[in-house]
This record gives sequence, C-alpha cells and structure tokens, in this order.
Amino acid sequence: MHSNDATRLKVVYILGSARSGSTILDATLGTAGHVLSTGELGHIFWAFDLREAPTVRHCSCGLLASDCPLWSQVWSEIQTQRDIEELERETRRFEAPVRAIPNLGFGRLFRTRAFREHLDFLGRSVQTVARIGGTGTIVDSSKGPGRGWLFSLLPQKDFDVRFVHLVRDGRSVVSSMMTHYEPHKAESTPSPWPSWAAAAFSTVHWVYMNLFSSLLGALNRGSYLRVRYEDFVSDPLGSLATIETFLDVDLSEPRRRISGGQPLSSGHLLCGNRSKASPILRAKSREATQSRLPLGPSLVFFSLGGWLQWLYLRTPSEASEFRPQVRPGRA
Ligand SMILES: [Zn+2]
Repeated sequence: MHSNDATRLKVVYILGSARSGSTILDATLGTAGHVLSTGELGHIFWAFDLREAPTVRHCSCGLLASDCPLWSQVWSEIQTQRDIEELERETRRFEAPVRAIPNLGFGRLFRTRAFREHLDFLGRSVQTVARIGGTGTIVDSSKGPGRGWLFSLLPQKDFDVRFVHLVRDGRSVVSSMMTHYEPHKAESTPSPWPSWAAAAFSTVHWVYMNLFSSLLGALNRGSYLRVRYEDFVSDPLGSLATIETFLDVDLSEPRRRISGGQPLSSGHLLCGNRSKASPILRAKSREATQSRLPLGPSLVFFSLGGWLQWLYLRTPSEASEFRPQVRPGRA
C-alpha cells in the first residue's frame, strides 16, 4: 500500500462491452455521496458537440451538459488544454475500440510525443473533474479497453486505478444491440442490417471488448474485479458488498437505498441518453435481464462467441476473493 493513499485520486474504471449495464453500476456507486459518477467521461466531447442530438448532450441531472453546474465548469477548463477537434481526434486514436490497441502499443513502445501528451491529458482531465466535483473517487464507465490501458499507465503515486469488468450474458447484449441500434443517436430503432449480420457484428463486439478487458485484468491483478451483470441484478446487496471490499470505499448509502427500495441518485452522468438515466432510478426486474434472442441470431452468437460465454460461466469470477468474510468495520 502506498503511504500517500489519502492524496491519490481513486479512479474506478468500468470495463466491458456496450449494453452491459455499466450505467446502472456507475450510478449505483455514485449514490455514495463521496463518489462522483461521470458516465462516459471518455466521450465528453459528444456532450459539447452541437452536431450531436440533444439526447447525447444531456447530463443525467436533466440539464444540457453545457448548462450543468459540474460539466460546464469542467469543460471550460478542459478547453484551455485541448480544443474539441483535437480532443476527439486523439481520443479516437488512442481510445476507440479497434484503433486504440495498435496505436497504444506503438506509442508506448516508442514513447511517442502524441502518446505521452494524451496520457498526460487523461491524468489532468480526471484530476480536473475530481477537483471541481469535490471528490477523491471518480467512476468512469466509458468501458473501452484502450482507455483502461491508458489508466493503468498513470503514475501510481498520484492515481489509484481499479477496474470493474462487468460481463453480461452475450445473448442479452446481442439482443439489445440488434433492437436498439445507435442508442446515442436515436431512440431505440432496430438495426437496419440483416439479422444474421447484426448478430455477427454484435457478437464480435462482445467478444472483442470482453477479451481485451480480461487481458487488462490479467495484467493488473489485484486491481481488477469481474462481476456478472446477472449477479449484480439478482443480488445487488451481495454484489455491492464484494465491490465495496474490492474498491475500499464506503457504499452504505447505495446499499441502504436498494434495501429500502428507494431510487438511486440521478447524479451527473455524461453521454447516456436521457432514457438511459431513467432506468437508473428503478430496480430492473429479473425478467428484464433474461435474453430473448431468436434462434437464428442465437446460433450466430454461439458459433462466434459461445466459447467465451462458456469460459466466463466456467471460470469463477474474481469476485470470490473479495467477498467479505466479516463485515469490515469503518472507524
Ligand atoms: Zn449534470
């Protein structure tokens, strides 16, 4: 353990594929008053890009990000470091799912200037968010493994980075991706692709994102926890107790609200659309987590991604080692 733990910024980075329930986990953690949930912080430029739909530009507090007391202030500081085009270009280069891995590998190997600048910017930007938000712990659910890799490279004397990898049943993810195409751009339209192609694309996305998240976990043992979304939904209190031990943050407030059936706080989550903010506020029924994937797309999923689904079911989640034996006292 580091002696200066109190001064290090704790960054909780949620890994996994799209449609894995990361927004709900993010908001749950942010319900602890001293934890700031940021939503998809890595896509903050979308929230300030006037070409984007209003749904994308909203914060979960209900205001446009440009009117939100937190994000308007963060953005005005970030803009002094990088303009929106540069930020978007460098983020795509080093954080976009497919391009990030070779670009990061090259940048890290040769310590290129662009790589060093982006890493430096990442560190300063999360410090800016934490300072303006008045917190020592932030949660970022951007999910991309490239951004996670960058977080793992931040100096440990200043940053305490912990990864929570949320794995949802691949059939549910594929079903969601097929029926809610481009959720950031429009509301819940089905994919225009033929169903086999949509199923194949969604499966490849699920495999890729989870595989790299697991790889990042293998490289960062001790600061990585894998959680099944289905476990989180069916036993939120048990899952939160495990996550609380792993993160070493007090989650008594979200646990209290969940046991009392009270809504979570809406917080200031970026770049979920507004309809994404509402499910945060109510517990998901068990039924909603069950897959309803038709036979054809199911066969596509199992032929391309069944092996990984099997591995995740077979390999015990790392959660077991963080399951509290005795409830930790908090002096
Ligand atoms: Zn807000």
